[in-house]
Amino acid sequence: MAVMSAMLVSASCAQATETIEWPDGKKAAIALTYDDALDTHLDAALPQLDAHGFKATFYLTLENEGFLNRTEEWRAVAENGHELGNHTLFHPCQSSLPGRDWVQPEADLDAYSVARMVREIALTNQLLTLFDGRSSRTFAYPCGDSTAGGESYVDAIRPLFDGARGVASYSPDATYDFYQVSTYGPEDVSGDMLIDYAEGVLEEGGFGSFTFHGIGGEYLTVSPEAHAELLDWLDAHRDEIWIATFQDIVTYTKDAG
Ligand SMILES: [Zn+2]
Repeated sequence: MAVMSAMLVSASCAQATETIEWPDGKKAAIALTYDDALDTHLDAALPQLDAHGFKATFYLTLENEGFLNRTEEWRAVAENGHELGNHTLFHPCQSSLPGRDWVQPEADLDAYSVARMVREIALTNQLLTLFDGRSSRTFAYPCGDSTAGGESYVDAIRPLFDGARGVASYSPDATYDFYQVSTYGPEDVSGDMLIDYAEGVLEEGGFGSFTFHGIGGEYLTVSPEAHAELLDWLDAHRDEIWIATFQDIVTYTKDAG
């Protein structure tokens, strides 16, 4: 596709989309995303998002208690216009990477095959569709890992999604790939540091995303205060920055070329 080859990543913290005109004359786009179906997403992040009217993407891992214990709340989240994204049933990750001692053998992506991973992801999609009634959504790679049994599963999941959020680090000559969109995953940072990233995305005119985990608890935590400072700043710049679900931004960007 000509559009995809023309859109080169030329920014340090956002995937630049130089050929894109953002809606309503805005200059950049940012997706707020939250991984793993955590309690603090519902208890801390969601009230802040709803106060500003921002629509976010929640990448749900369906076996997590934060999903199973609170399904009616998640259903309401979807009805309120947020995206319920696919983050698999069991969150398999590669045990062979550094710092992965915690990966359980039955959820070891190195012991999966591509076919097994696709089967799990496709079933997650079907369950989410039963749940929110939506026929399409986006995916986030658990742990950012994109190989199963040592083989990339990126191509195998393209037909299943509008796009996918990776955690791949920036590569200056990488061609834009809507199925490996880079992101910023903050942990224990100040509001100013979150805003620094958003300012960079605005300056570059690109498509940025935040990957949050715990908000004021759980793990990879960002404080509710820092999260609130970011949302206040985004609200003050909402005439310049399009804040939308990952799905809405990816879909718009693919179509805009
Ligand atoms: Zn995750």
